Amino acid sequence: MSDVRNVIIIGSGPAGYTAALYTARASLKPLVFEGSVTAGGALMNTTEVENFPGFREGIMGPDLMDNMRGQAERFGAELVPDDVAAVDLSEDIKTVTDSAGTVHRAKTVIVSTGSQHRKLGLAREDELSGRGVSWCATCDGFFFKDQDIAVIGGGDTAMEEATFLSRFAKSVTVVHRRDTLRASKAMQERAFADPKISFIWDSEVTEIHGDGKLSGLTLRDVKKDETSELPVTGLFIAIGHDPRTELFKGQLHLDDEGYLKVESPSTRTNIPGVFAAGDVVDHTYRQAITAAGTGCAAALDAERFLASLG
Ligand code: FAD
Repeated sequence: MSDVRNVIIIGSGPAGYTAALYTARASLKPLVFEGSVTAGGALMNTTEVENFPGFREGIMGPDLMDNMRGQAERFGAELVPDDVAAVDLSEDIKTVTDSAGTVHRAKTVIVSTGSQHRKLGLAREDELSGRGVSWCATCDGFFFKDQDIAVIGGGDTAMEEATFLSRFAKSVTVVHRRDTLRASKAMQERAFADPKISFIWDSEVTEIHGDGKLSGLTLRDVKKDETSELPVTGLFIAIGHDPRTELFKGQLHLDDEGYLKVESPSTRTNIPGVFAAGDVVDHTYRQAITAAGTGCAAALDAERFLASLG
């Protein structure tokens, strides 16, 4: 049986690495499960990050995450590129089982497993990510000044992205597979009133085109079964996110959309000693800096919890 750790951190995005940095500097020797496929989190899949404070000229996503990783490691965080397969959070000493079946024990656990943006599932979608294809208008809108952009989706997020993007874009075309929107009435009205935003109804994207950079889309009208071409240099996919909370179902409280619930403004979950940070909690802001901020808060909450144990 392994020693009992002070803290185990699950996830290695900005939230996990920041929690690792803070708990390592507090001499708590955190064990961090980074994930086997996407160690470094969502920013490993992007190019330029221009809105993380401290980098005047911007920084490539993978470089930013490599810096965060190295900074946590420098202070003694133990980083393991493996997936957590199971957790038992019911006792004072929590257990975390890795993919080889080894059980690790800790007094506190910080969950920072992030969320997965839904993809269209089309060829070239990943290849052109950061090269015209995006999932975040706040992050990337600025790159698309005076360009023609498509937004895919019909919910509140899609309308919010379209309205935000119309500040920069030459035109924004919302492509929705139905003939009505799911978005709230207020969001719909704002989008309908915007002269730069137009709608293509009952249509889905069937192909993404571009050689190193997005150049257009093929759309299919699902009612008429006709195809058409839409020349755009920006594609924002706003069809939802799936928080990675499968492991915690039945133990930690989730909201209606499956995100972990915390006692805001703290990062405490319903189980003492278990804290959650980043996009696995947040469906409002979804930024690297907010994930890092709550990762810091989770580390401080864990430190205080450990101190209270005496
Ligand atoms: P994530 O970064 O998603 O990291 C979660 C980590 O947990 C992953 O490494 C995953 O492998 C790991 N994990 C999950 N399950 C397990 C498990 N069972 N065991 C072990 N590990 C596990 N934000 C900005 O501020 N600026 C930008 O320019 C920007 N650009 C973006 C571009 C793209 C393409 C995307 C997708 C997002 C972008 N964002 C940007 C948003 C930003 O990346 C996220 O808000 C941020 O990464 C969330 O951090 P997180 O730590 O909560 O989760």
